[in-house]
Amino acid sequence: MPAWRNISLWMDQLDDPLMARPSLEHDLDVDVAIIGAGYTGLWTAYYLKRQAPELKIAIIEAQTAGFGASGRNGGWLMGNLLGEDRLLAGLALEQRRASFDLLHGIPDEVAQVLAREGIDCDYRKGGALYCAARYPEQEGSLRAYLDTLYAQGLTEADYRWLSPQQLAGQIRIAKPYGGIHAPHVATINPAKLVRGLARVVENMGVPIYESSPVTHWQSGTVRTAKASVRAAWVVPAVEGYANTLPPLGRYQLPVQSLIVATEPLPASTWDEIGLSHGQAFGESSRQVTYGQRSADNRLVFGARGGYQFAGKLRHNFDLTDSEVALRRYLFGELFPQLKKVRITHSWGGNLGMSRRFRPHMLCDHRTGIALAGGYGGEGVGATNLGGRTLADLILGRDTPLIHQPWVLRERGLDALKAWEPEPCRWLGYNAIIRSFVHEDQVLANPNTAPWRRKLAIGIAGFMEGFMH
Ligand SMILES: Cc1cc2nc3c(=O)[nH]c(=O)nc-3n(C[C@H](O)[C@H](O)[C@H](O)COP(=O)(O)OP(=O)(O)OC[C@H]3O[C@@H](n4cnc5c(N)ncnc54)[C@H](O)[C@@H]3O)c2cc1C
Repeated sequence: MPAWRNISLWMDQLDDPLMARPSLEHDLDVDVAIIGAGYTGLWTAYYLKRQAPELKIAIIEAQTAGFGASGRNGGWLMGNLLGEDRLLAGLALEQRRASFDLLHGIPDEVAQVLAREGIDCDYRKGGALYCAARYPEQEGSLRAYLDTLYAQGLTEADYRWLSPQQLAGQIRIAKPYGGIHAPHVATINPAKLVRGLARVVENMGVPIYESSPVTHWQSGTVRTAKASVRAAWVVPAVEGYANTLPPLGRYQLPVQSLIVATEPLPASTWDEIGLSHGQAFGESSRQVTYGQRSADNRLVFGARGGYQFAGKLRHNFDLTDSEVALRRYLFGELFPQLKKVRITHSWGGNLGMSRRFRPHMLCDHRTGIALAGGYGGEGVGATNLGGRTLADLILGRDTPLIHQPWVLRERGLDALKAWEPEPCRWLGYNAIIRSFVHEDQVLANPNTAPWRRKLAIGIAGFMEGFMH
């Protein structure tokens, strides 16, 4: 059996033998064929089946449920979408508020399903702490971000500034310059969620065929090496693996994020650090860091990974010494008492990035193709919204979900923006990341002159502008 347990700390900890489900050996005729058993595919099946139990649905998965990002992520279940500020900017105030409320409600919707279906995934809704924690300029950029949120009609009930003293009530870091608290975020054990959802949809009558990579797909048909599936609807739900299903790879690139987990830490260490009720936390540099205290008291901490030339998937997630060392350095800056702590697990995964750096939910009744993706590193909650939205779109239900600005109704794949050809992407990615790394090096050194600090921020900000 493949080493699925090595995928992540979360898969390693499952009380589940991880036996492979049967693969697809015979042709099928179904209403909906879903490709991929991650959160997107499973949530879509769940909401379709709840509303239309008579539908015949099959999920076809290359490996096992949770093999992708859904079994590997940092466990931030956010009531947000990547790029939501840009997506919602054009809406009238009232409509924008309604959309924000819809997004902020995602963790509560997931909590209701967990309770209804008996899924235990260590869900704790402790909010997220976005900390200015490594250099003073972070305070300014976080405050400016908060101002833009308030300018969009959000209030202190949505996002609240925490002074260093207030921050210390929740998390004790070495250099607190302040932070933002967002209440609409929960932490979870990601693998327990994806494996639990897989069990639930199976019990609802949706077979999941594992070890069955889809080799060909088009309107009405999905093929593996051994069988064909005829379907009124085809739902590719492969996110970071889009290049396995041409032409999807044009629209969604795989980028990597990498994580480490420490051994379980003693209560005395957590008394020093805090994070007593499931808060997610990150520091606000462009390293894209994210952390949580796991239910078994480990520090789980990740940061942005890389991009491989031509959008090649990364398969080997045995992290190099320097990849582990960077994450140790970053969390050690926050918690110096953990600089030498034992790291027991390190892993990573491929996530999907759309060219507009924001997700899309698309449905075309003429071709019978529906898909949701491009969540970037913010898909744990967004996939729930994606599943609900695709279900309503496929079933032709007129609900508020289908009228959101991220929904492309009756549009084909060409409604998505394609990535530039190589080597433009690779050169662009590396130029942008170099500017981010340079900014981080300059700002992390307290002795660099103010003009150099300003210049580094200016260059990184300018380069970031190319992403949008
Ligand atoms: C390291 C890491 C940390 C992250 N942390 C967070 C976080 O803390 N919070 C957050 O909100 N988001 C986070 N994300 C992003 C989030 O995990 C994803 O957006 C989300 O899990 C996407 O779910 P999905 O079902 O769309 O895709 P996936 O979970 O990737 O599922 C796709 C599935 O499709 C299967 N597949 C691929 N190709 C084929 C094929 N040809 N045929 C059949 N099956 C196929 C794969 O095996 C996989 O099981 C993180 C991602 C990574 C990689």
